[in-house]
Amino acid sequence: MNNTACPCGRLVPYAQCCGRWHHAFSAGQGLLAPDAEALMRSRYSAYVWNQLDYLRASWHPSTRPAELAPNEPGLRWLGLEVKKHVLQDAAHASVEFVARSKLGGRAQRMHELSRFVFEAGAWLYLDGEQR
Ligand SMILES: [Zn+2]
Repeated sequence: MNNTACPCGRLVPYAQCCGRWHHAFSAGQGLLAPDAEALMRSRYSAYVWNQLDYLRASWHPSTRPAELAPNEPGLRWLGLEVKKHVLQDAAHASVEFVARSKLGGRAQRMHELSRFVFEAGAWLYLDGEQR
């Protein structure tokens, strides 16, 4: 798996992309994604592989759902397109993206403007608004 292109759409192996942040987190080093876009991409890849611990940890405590459900059986994530990454200031950023998936033969498209905050040394997902 580590030699394939990263699920987040960057044309680099997973191990050199989102895998770095996933592995650091699994190794107890915390959330090391250097900016909101990298965190957002690593969260998409975490959705692809049902890495719920990573998703929970990278979600701001004030908006984090009590429970996070794994992907529905049969759901396939098809790709991610990051449209815009805007750094408002040192602690606030937004990322606009489109994520595509397929469930039971039906294509689904999620277009969201996500907000991120930098707190206690890590970028965290705050919330998002559907476009
Ligand atoms: Zn990636």
